[in-house]
Amino acid sequence: MSDVRQHADDIHDQFSDHIDVSVDDVEERLTTLVDEYKVPIDEARRSVTNHYLEEAGLEREDISRGGSEAANVEDVDEPEQWIDLTAKVIELWDPRSDSVAQVGLLGDPTGTIKFTKWAKSELPALEEGGVYELRNVVTDEYQGRYSVKLNSTTVIEELDEELEVGDDTSEIEGALVDMQSGSGLIKRCPKDDCTRVLQNGRCNEHGEVEGEFDLRIKAVVDDGIDAHEVIFDKEATEDLTGLSLEEAKEMAMDALDTTIVADEIMDDIVGTYYRIEGPTFGRYVLADDVEELDGPADPEQLLIKARSM
Ligand SMILES: [Zn+2]
Repeated sequence: MSDVRQHADDIHDQFSDHIDVSVDDVEERLTTLVDEYKVPIDEARRSVTNHYLEEAGLEREDISRGGSEAANVEDVDEPEQWIDLTAKVIELWDPRSDSVAQVGLLGDPTGTIKFTKWAKSELPALEEGGVYELRNVVTDEYQGRYSVKLNSTTVIEELDEELEVGDDTSEIEGALVDMQSGSGLIKRCPKDDCTRVLQNGRCNEHGEVEGEFDLRIKAVVDDGIDAHEVIFDKEATEDLTGLSLEEAKEMAMDALDTTIVADEIMDDIVGTYYRIEGPTFGRYVLADDVEELDGPADPEQLLIKARSM
């Protein structure tokens, strides 16, 4: 389904109980605004929504629950879902782009998730520590990590209650059995909030850019029962390998080859046992706290596994 069609579908769902309108009608209005008048889709959506609000004689609040469903943070496992969340603002971060009004971390009893609030959606400011009902937010995914976007159709209601925030930290003990591609010395897109990893000097979104060097490891850790995908960011990679970003850059410069860094790291860590603790984002565990172990933490478990093979 195209982006415009999806928005048309959402708008149609919101109004189908109130007025006689087809998805095609909604899509046509959106398409006209987006294609002929070059209006950004968020704005087109707001404009078309307003049109139907007027036609139906409704207020925005009357329809805000239409397309979205109440969800918990742990339920978010798909992009482009319209949901309602009741969540606490755990942390606000500094936006790295003028197009973003607020960015930070939300939490509910089932876990935590990043949120982004667009500047152009002109929503009220969220306060750190505040508990809110956020209706009509849309989910997003980037490299297995989910987030929610607050947009121009989002309705924010501050709640006068406390909300327990769940601990979604994972702890894994096992052997680091593999390092995936995209590990070692990598380059990221420097544009706005992008940070996508470049492939051959190109960003998926922004094309050819002057990348910024970064260090990271994507590893597979086997705890004897399951294989877990673990990401080590720059700090965690430096701690794990004793190799700093500066040293990695020098190493690559001397060899005229960046892959030497990944090779070096791989020799160092594959086959080693670790205890790793950190938050879960989608299918990844982010290594926050890492401890090297002498060997299998629980040899019994490994034996059981060996016998079962
Ligand atoms: Zn980019």
